Amino acid sequence: MLDKVLIANRGEIALRILRACKELGIQTVAVHSKIDAELKHVKLADQAVCIGPNPSPQSYLNVPAIISAMEVTGAQAVHPGYGFLAENADFAEQVENSGFTFIGPKAETIRTMGDKVAAIQAMKVAGVPTVPGSDGPLSEDADELRATALRIGYPVIVKAAAGGGGRGMRVVEDEETLINSVAITKTEAAAAFGDGTVYMEKFLQNPRHVEVQVLSDGQGNAIHLGDRDCSLQRRHQKVIEEAPAPGIPEEARQGVFDSCVKACVQMNYRGAGTFEFLYEDGKYYFIEMNTRVQVEHPVSEMITGVDIIKEQLTIASGQPLSTKQEDIVFRGHSFECRINAEDPKTFLPQPGKIKTYHAPGGNGVRVDSHIYNGYSVPPNYDSMIGKIITYGRDRNSALSRMRNALDEMVIDGIKTNIDLHADLVRDEEFKKGGVNIHYLEKKLGL
Ligand code: ADP
Repeated sequence: MLDKVLIANRGEIALRILRACKELGIQTVAVHSKIDAELKHVKLADQAVCIGPNPSPQSYLNVPAIISAMEVTGAQAVHPGYGFLAENADFAEQVENSGFTFIGPKAETIRTMGDKVAAIQAMKVAGVPTVPGSDGPLSEDADELRATALRIGYPVIVKAAAGGGGRGMRVVEDEETLINSVAITKTEAAAAFGDGTVYMEKFLQNPRHVEVQVLSDGQGNAIHLGDRDCSLQRRHQKVIEEAPAPGIPEEARQGVFDSCVKACVQMNYRGAGTFEFLYEDGKYYFIEMNTRVQVEHPVSEMITGVDIIKEQLTIASGQPLSTKQEDIVFRGHSFECRINAEDPKTFLPQPGKIKTYHAPGGNGVRVDSHIYNGYSVPPNYDSMIGKIITYGRDRNSALSRMRNALDEMVIDGIKTNIDLHADLVRDEEFKKGGVNIHYLEKKLGL
């Protein structure tokens, strides 16, 4: 097992990683920006190093400072969490070239999955269902473009191969705007991502977002931990997630799980990962793979009993997977609500000091959060300040526990989205299960 891990992140995920390390007897090093010296995990870590000023490019994205902190503290490995450097292939490469372990896939895997055209090709080889599309980068030839779109069928979506964060894509309704749209997307992609490669896909009108969690040891063993539904989104940001995805026929699910596991084995994938799909009319369409742990990983932990972060640490230490697929028992249902420090009307971040904090509790309630009474939410980073996760033997009981938990939670001093969540978990359509990715924005009148 590793003996000392540096946590290159902040907030709830840094605390989550710290707790997993402690359980495994691994020493921890927290790195933080100036303003983050009061973070809970910084206080709890065996060692803490301030790596720079508040803006993340100078601290949490500051690769030389992080690698120096590893050298100074004698950390063997770095856990990147999610966001920041988690999917930065150059960082992973520099970590490994400096003789340290990157807790995640090999740099080349991250690079392949970061190039959506290459990722789709890798999925096709493994039999993972993809969106009907251009099968590679678009040509410059107008006639060819028109023929490709006609074959796929309008509406189509033009996407940047190097795109991310919901940027670099454009929906095309008909032939009239096609050539122009492709040209604009190319120019924008080149400016935003330094790569003007674009491809074309069928635009799905009313899909759900369904994703599959995998664990793979890079030694030929891979398993899945089932699926999650993350359709409740605002501006491509997930708001509530659940596991398992409700109302999907068992046969379709098993088929896609098997193909994801096969893809991991074929790529010799190392670590935790997520295959993201759009799901419409009983069919799955791969959109991207996340080569890191995700915010919503706890809902899969709740229904399987597997600790995903501990598995990441074990895999990074070079051990084979501790669990076989047949040992994974799926039981019950789980929800996660992301609690953000934001204005309930404008959704603008609301940094400030938390005067009073009461966490909910009780049977089947888990709170992953770094906040405490008197903690000041800084303006410099993401506005998520915690997650409530509930578990129940069935979907209704997990949902009623979430209603109670949200009603119990008190955060005074700053504005949060707790009331929005309290409203959403009482929404009749959401209660039925299976709303699509446009549902929340429609409900909010956006
Ligand atoms: P990013 O890496 O920027 O998150 P994705 O490829 O994951 O890009 O797509 C982000 C979102 O864009 C999806 O969650 C979905 O809402 C929408 N989207 C992407 N491709 C399609 C498609 N073919 N049809 C419909 N919506 C799509």
